[in-house]
Amino acid sequence: MTAFSFEKHGQDGKARTGVIHTARGDIRTPAFMPVGTAATVKAMMPESVAATGADILLGNTYHLMLRPTAERIQSLGGLHKFMNWSGPILTDSGGFQVMSLAALRKLTERGVTFKSHIDGSRHEITPERSMEIQAMLGSDIVMCFDECPALPADRDRIASSMEMSMRWAKRSKEAFGDRPGHALFGIQQGGLEQDLRGQSAESLREIGFDGYAVGGLAVGEGQAAMFDCLDFAADQLPQDRPRYLMGVGKPDDIVGAVARGIDMMDCVLPSRSGRTGQVFTRRGVLNIKNARHQDDPRPLDEDCGCPACSNYSRAYLHHVYRSQEIISSMLLTWHNLRFYQDLMAGMRDAIAAGEFTQWQAKFHTDRAEGDIEPL
Ligand SMILES: [Zn+2]
Repeated sequence: MTAFSFEKHGQDGKARTGVIHTARGDIRTPAFMPVGTAATVKAMMPESVAATGADILLGNTYHLMLRPTAERIQSLGGLHKFMNWSGPILTDSGGFQVMSLAALRKLTERGVTFKSHIDGSRHEITPERSMEIQAMLGSDIVMCFDECPALPADRDRIASSMEMSMRWAKRSKEAFGDRPGHALFGIQQGGLEQDLRGQSAESLREIGFDGYAVGGLAVGEGQAAMFDCLDFAADQLPQDRPRYLMGVGKPDDIVGAVARGIDMMDCVLPSRSGRTGQVFTRRGVLNIKNARHQDDPRPLDEDCGCPACSNYSRAYLHHVYRSQEIISSMLLTWHNLRFYQDLMAGMRDAIAAGEFTQWQAKFHTDRAEGDIEPL
């Protein structure tokens, strides 16, 4: 079995490119992970997700433990078999979504109890239970169970939360045990405070993880504050392990994060936007429901190789969106995921060639141009 490892192939400034080797295949970095919340990337067949260029998917522990349950997925052969995705899967710990979705949450040193948002049933997640659930799912990259306050929060609250997350990280590592071929990532917390982030990174290094995530960002602080924090937060994490920025983001967030030394990201944005008619292109975001597309025979993006751009006009995509046809979500999600993967591939090539500064300048110039002129 291939051991989990990270091989850095190139670096340009702080931006890195390389490969994460896993037992289920390689992940080219910087990597974007589409989100398969309930064992599906909505509106996409798994083979279509692979065709967009994705090497790895993300699954959500909170959703899967409630429905269909981790026990059921395990008895059916694990998450990969269940959802027909043979590549690597990363699962989150469940903590973040308990805090954002569940009712009647009660947080203690032991863990968190809550009521399901689906049927009101009572559940508990502790670091030990989170490790057990992620093992039952068969996740390749397991995340530590942690807790993070929404920003802005006062410093004492951020510090005590971070310290508890570090105690939970230790319990997560002990419960994870020795599982060859599977990786456990620690999660740095500490809000926007450089010293707290530093303490958190130090605690995680002492415990020792296969990879390190920057947690607690993209929670309402805004892009400028997030970048200011990443300027030091990424540097505080080990150079020789993958760094994962959780829940990010818009294309310009992703480019800025890669420029600051991030290797992996995930976000629902490309898939969710595909269902609401928001389309990402090199020249910014367009809204397919706008009347300007109604008679436009041109593709969304003439340089994109996805099925939506190769075979369909803006006029058709506008029509099926307005008619609420299922194919609208399918085509727009495919395009958006392909756009994100092309973005990552472009960055990987530019970093390897030592041309990432020029690449970023062109990325911003193209976006500033805005959508093609209406006909
Ligand atoms: Zn396309």
